[in-house]
Amino acid sequence: ARSGHAPCFDNSYARLPERLFARLPPTPVSAPRLLRLNARLAEEMGLDPAWLSGPDGVAMLAGNAMPDGAEPIAQAYAGHQFGQFVPSLGDGRAILIGEVVTPAGERRDIQLKGSGPTPFSRRGDGRAAVGPVLREYIVSEAMAAFGIPTTRSLAAVATGDAVFREDALPGAVLTRVAASHLRVGTFQYFAARRDTDALRVLAEHAIARHYPEAAGAANPVLALFEGVVARQAALVARWLLVGFIHGVMNTDNCAISGETIDYGPCAFLDEYHPEKVFSSIDQFGRYAYGNQPGIAHWNLARLAECLLPLISEDENKALELAQDSLAGFAPRFGAAWREGLLRKIGLAAEEEADEALVQDLFTLMAEGRADFTLTFRRLCDAAEGQGADAALRALFADPAAVDPWLVRWRARLAREGAGRAEAMRAVNPAYIPRNHLVEEAIAAAVQRDDLAPFEALLSVLERPFEEQPGRERYAAPPLPEERVLRTFC
Ligand code: AMP
Ligand code: MG
Ligand code: MG
Repeated sequence: ARSGHAPCFDNSYARLPERLFARLPPTPVSAPRLLRLNARLAEEMGLDPAWLSGPDGVAMLAGNAMPDGAEPIAQAYAGHQFGQFVPSLGDGRAILIGEVVTPAGERRDIQLKGSGPTPFSRRGDGRAAVGPVLREYIVSEAMAAFGIPTTRSLAAVATGDAVFREDALPGAVLTRVAASHLRVGTFQYFAARRDTDALRVLAEHAIARHYPEAAGAANPVLALFEGVVARQAALVARWLLVGFIHGVMNTDNCAISGETIDYGPCAFLDEYHPEKVFSSIDQFGRYAYGNQPGIAHWNLARLAECLLPLISEDENKALELAQDSLAGFAPRFGAAWREGLLRKIGLAAEEEADEALVQDLFTLMAEGRADFTLTFRRLCDAAEGQGADAALRALFADPAAVDPWLVRWRARLAREGAGRAEAMRAVNPAYIPRNHLVEEAIAAAVQRDDLAPFEALLSVLERPFEEQPGRERYAAPPLPEERVLRTFC
């Protein structure tokens, strides 16, 4: 039927003990208007795009009416925010409306973000502004197109209501899809309350949902922890390999599933520098580009502390086991990072001197203030011949400084098989959600109600590894006057 069908919900989290969440419906908004529906994602999830974009669908996506089978809840969680423990955070502006199982058999949360106050809102209004909603939409979908584990964006709806920050801003609701919204902070909430029964329930839920292989391990909770360590190590390596800075790696923004979650003042590097920070709230650079592996490790140590009573009744034994598992983070991260870097410069096998070769390129990039994305992308062309060297050299403040490195790299590349440039283009994106392009798309939407730049940017970012003729401006770094120095939540 043209009117289509509502999602078929199966809400496993809402069946867990009531103290894990608060039940409440979203707060209705004045004038819902669909800004964007991710029809492709809807189809992958077995949802009906026709229904979602019709009146009942938009009412659901705005939080104005819940279809049959939805069981809206706000989830409880705690978290370390910039290193400070806050025992009660929770969904203060988000509501999980339910879960669906996709045709591929994967369970997915459907969450409305900006859906009104909850018992966890503290002083917040429970709302979101159009700008941050569109930013999360663009960046999360770009991450998915890179193949990096991430929450997804199913829809953005304008509310017709103002939200009051420093100014009055147009409001919106983002529909976020996630493998789950379990966070390190979810475990911390119950650990802080010495609620071991709840911790056990959460661990079992996490194992069933994300690490089913851990169920059969000798120590399932330890296997769960090892699984999270492995996925977080791989995830942070993937971030660094595309120049991504999450911006707020608090423990409540660290997902047990291993997906990237909670896109706030996140940003991509233009010029490479390991200490780069964009977030306006990160005064001391805790979440700088190059600090991210260390912070992920720190967050995982906080998760280990929560799981100790479930790992062994013997405290010393539990500590020893958890520490051994946590020690796996550095080698796992290191291997993923090194392998990714070698592929970025066209090397499949590893030789003794390769690490120094890569390190020296990073040093040159930092000294030459070279654009991260374009350096690697133009290196793909350079792998086909020296005709492309000029474009690469031009990215560096002192082009001649790169020449000795290019000689070494070519000598090394000669020992690799054919087809290097193609392989390099498959891992080095031509297009990233550059901060100035994201800001431009948001400004058009907010100031002129013009969604065309947003749509155009999304369309480019659907195929980030493919050269797209006529869309050169989306690959270009910002002009000096376009540079974004700070990002805001
Ligand atoms: P975030 O910085 O988005 O990861 O959020 C940290 C905490 O602040 C979470 O508990 C959020 O639910 C809460 N929060 C953020 N913004 C708001 C808001 N506008 N209203 C209520 N709670 C909020
Ligand atoms: Mg409750
Ligand atoms: Mg958060």
